[in-house]
Amino acid sequence: MSNPCLFCKIVAGEIPAKKIYEDEQVLAFHDIHPQAPVHALIIPKHHWASLDDVAPRDRPLLGHLLERTAHVARELGVADTGYRTLINTKAHGGQEVFHIHVHVLGGRPLGRMVAP
Ligand code: 5GP
Ligand code: ZN
Repeated sequence: MSNPCLFCKIVAGEIPAKKIYEDEQVLAFHDIHPQAPVHALIIPKHHWASLDDVAPRDRPLLGHLLERTAHVARELGVADTGYRTLINTKAHGGQEVFHIHVHVLGGRPLGRMVAP
């Protein structure tokens, strides 16, 4: 049976994405519906449904994911002015795609609110 996960399909190249960065462990690409001038998603190639699915053994990969998120933000030119990182988790967190991903939003002031 084929993997039904949308972001696993992007990792596999079965669905196109505007890639920004890739290594053996993570992939970064532009969000299809950007909420800011810069809106990127950084994902592990390994499938975790959400942040609630990670375990202590996943710490090295999570550390890499976050460090590469900062790298991508710098590559996209928003590191000096600043940006917001966001991980939505499950229903109340507003998660729509159940493959863990870090949003990077920037390119304009985003305000101080973290919840609408
Ligand atoms: P979530 O709400 O799960 O945190 O965010 C999912 C994000 O994935 C949304 O911002 C949405 O615009 C983005 N997205 C959904 N489908 C696709 C797609 O096929 N390609 C890309 N590049 N982004 C997608
Ligand atoms: Zn997946």
